[in-house]
Amino acid sequence: MIVARSIPEARTALRDLPRPLGFVPTMGALHAGHLSLVESARSRCAGVAASVFVNPTQFGRGEDFDTYPRDEARDLRLLEEAGVAVVFMPTAGDMYPEGFATNVHVGGAVTESLEGSSRPSHFDGVAVIVTKLLGVVQPDLLFLGEKDAQQLAVVRRFVRDLDLPVEVAGVPTLREADGLAMSSRNVFLTREQRATAPDLYRALLAGAAAAGEPGAAAKDVVVAATSALLLPDGALDPDAVDEALAHPRFELDYLAVVDEDTFVPEGELGPRSRLVVAARLGSTRLIDTISLASAYPAKDATA
Ligand code: AMP
Repeated sequence: MIVARSIPEARTALRDLPRPLGFVPTMGALHAGHLSLVESARSRCAGVAASVFVNPTQFGRGEDFDTYPRDEARDLRLLEEAGVAVVFMPTAGDMYPEGFATNVHVGGAVTESLEGSSRPSHFDGVAVIVTKLLGVVQPDLLFLGEKDAQQLAVVRRFVRDLDLPVEVAGVPTLREADGLAMSSRNVFLTREQRATAPDLYRALLAGAAAAGEPGAAAKDVVVAATSALLLPDGALDPDAVDEALAHPRFELDYLAVVDEDTFVPEGELGPRSRLVVAARLGSTRLIDTISLASAYPAKDATA
């Protein structure tokens, strides 16, 4: 595996890779979810490149840029074992040299709602870094996780709008055995928070189950998921409900049903419906999502 630490080194190393070339951008602190993107890339591409870069412009003030987990030696070992041919590890100075003045801004709900409203300017940072990485690596296919569904929608949008010659491939979320979506930030969870964290996915499953009910609307999904999130199993007697509501286990940021292309909130369920959630456990912010598309044919049949 070639480790390219500058743009010229990367261009030289990438020139010799066989096509189609697949590319997996990451911020490091790798886990099996990242490696599943590499595996998808390997299954569809003759050559696979990855990048490790904690992109400062996608972190807001007060967010965890400084404390974001970093472990370069381990990341390189895992990427090499996974069969990556070239890894691009630029510095912030390489990517944002003196005088850098360009913004890549995608307009509309896809950048303004939900993650975009909780993290203003986050998607500008994502769009500029992905555009730059595509310019350096020039892959045929770009592999991104469905876990970051809004990021995936933003990238799909500007790739289409700017006619960038790359196919964007979404890869399903890899989960721990108890359902928690793998994330580099999971290491920040205390033991108690780690035990609570899988309830986020259980809430999404409750929402998806509600979506499968005949005649279900988006509101039914949101109600089912919210109550599953706020009320632990068995909290049905009034005292337990009062207790659960008085001391919520998660601080809910948003929970919504959206069109997965536009991220416009939906009232009616449709073939592109997706349930998305963001919640904090202490200082750690977790996001997760589930497609409601499989509920749609059943609902459609009863309409
Ligand atoms: P990050 O390093 O967090 O920027 O993530 C790099 C890529 O890995 C993004 O495309 C993420 O969506 C994807 N990713 C993160 N977690 C998972 C997961 N649990 N399963 C699949 N893909 C993931």
